[in-house]
Amino acid sequence: IKILAIESSCDETAASVVKNGREVLSNVISSQIALHTLYGGVVPEIASRKHIEKINQVIEEALKEANTTLEDIDAIGVTYGPGLVGALLVGVAEAKAISYATNKPLVGVHHIEGHVSANYIENKELEPPFLCLIVSGGHTHLVLVKEYGEYEIIGRTRDDAAGEAFDKVARAIGLGYPGGPKIDKVSKEGNKHAIEFPRANIDDAPYDFSFSGVKSAVLNHINSCKMKEEEIQVADVAASFQNAVVDVLVTRTIKAAKEFGMHKVCIAGGVASNSALRQAMKEACTKEEISLFYPSPIFCTDNAAMIGAAAYYEYKKGTRHGLDLNAVPNLKIGQR
Ligand code: ATP
Ligand code: MG
Ligand code: FE
Repeated sequence: IKILAIESSCDETAASVVKNGREVLSNVISSQIALHTLYGGVVPEIASRKHIEKINQVIEEALKEANTTLEDIDAIGVTYGPGLVGALLVGVAEAKAISYATNKPLVGVHHIEGHVSANYIENKELEPPFLCLIVSGGHTHLVLVKEYGEYEIIGRTRDDAAGEAFDKVARAIGLGYPGGPKIDKVSKEGNKHAIEFPRANIDDAPYDFSFSGVKSAVLNHINSCKMKEEEIQVADVAASFQNAVVDVLVTRTIKAAKEFGMHKVCIAGGVASNSALRQAMKEACTKEEISLFYPSPIFCTDNAAMIGAAAYYEYKKGTRHGLDLNAVPNLKIGQR
């Protein structure tokens, strides 16, 4: 089964051809990061317009790179939520048009279920059940993946997502957008024990997260440096912030894995490419005899290959969407 997958939920226009959910025949990503850097974040209207300009070209490239044609494709997979409505609509309209023109089935995919499914691509032996820590720009969830396409959320952030916290802190310490990779890099030169930033626990919700506290603590630290006319040690602040976030993510994931008897743990979403998180999770999982899986960085941040992987398992279950498929900006995990 070959699926042409399309992703346009945020600021990446992406298309991919994926065979049997795990074999990536092509993975084309046109990122708009440079464009949005000017404004310090994603501007929705600009994102939508850019998707329209790029989408046909990106799809053509994906087909060509996969050495295939639309006739040879079995289904069209597309992200229909969550995300920016105008951005999502471009991919959804395109997928519907291709589905109508070629008479091939249309399979709508949840963007975050796509992030989770990125783990299937390079880990051919990975099968549910497993526990997945989802850490992206807009989401932070602990999820039990019980079966392909069957999810139970056991924990979530109460405020900022992990990636959002990285981006906001990076902006505050002058690293610019997008902040995650920059904090990751500069932290390697810093002392992660230089400043003790808070780790938030939430009463009666052992698997929930909160990152607004650590973000405020960083801002307070910066302000107090300015008041005292001390130089801000950017690398130390970054490393200490990153350490506080990683600490909470790892501790809570391991606790959940033990509580729910999960011997397999996956990480998904843009922050899953964070080197400190990967290292700390590796050490903790080894200690607890848990198998750890994570995608290569290119499959962690937004891409269409992960949508193709998720679409394949939906397709196999019989999920088909009609030409009335709409973009759903606040689509819930597990919603069809
Ligand atoms: P969502 O998937 O929740 O809709 P999104 O698609 O914008 O949000 P992703 O593409 O999954 O998010 O990930 C982007 C986020 O990942 C950004 O917040 C970025 O800063 C963060 N990120 C990327 N690389 C790293 C890294 N090495 N360390 C930390 N954060 C990172
Ligand atoms: Mg993006
Ligand atoms: Fe994403």
